Amino acid sequence: MNKLTINSERCKACGLCIAHCPKKLLEPSPALNEAGYHPTVQKEPEACTGCAICALMCPDVCFTIVRAKEAAGEARPAAEVRP
Ligand code: SF4
Ligand code: SF4
Repeated sequence: MNKLTINSERCKACGLCIAHCPKKLLEPSPALNEAGYHPTVQKEPEACTGCAICALMCPDVCFTIVRAKEAAGEARPAAEVRP
């Protein structure tokens, strides 16, 4: 399963990640962080595709995503080599 973590203390609740998740898996937490914002949380983590659109959209670099294949030790090619 893809594993997504969100640094809730960095989140300023701009909503960009929520608006752009294609699976609609992100929502504001009812709780407040130290800065007084409702940080984004993920629901239904098993449905996350690991697309990383949320991480790309976040201006505060709140997301860390470990895709299932990477967690299992399958390295991604650094670059595609063509003859
Ligand atoms: S990685 Fe993709 S599917 Fe998963 S929460 Fe982020 S935007 Fe949504
Ligand atoms: S894009 Fe980043 S700062 Fe904005 S709501 Fe999402 S996690 Fe928080």
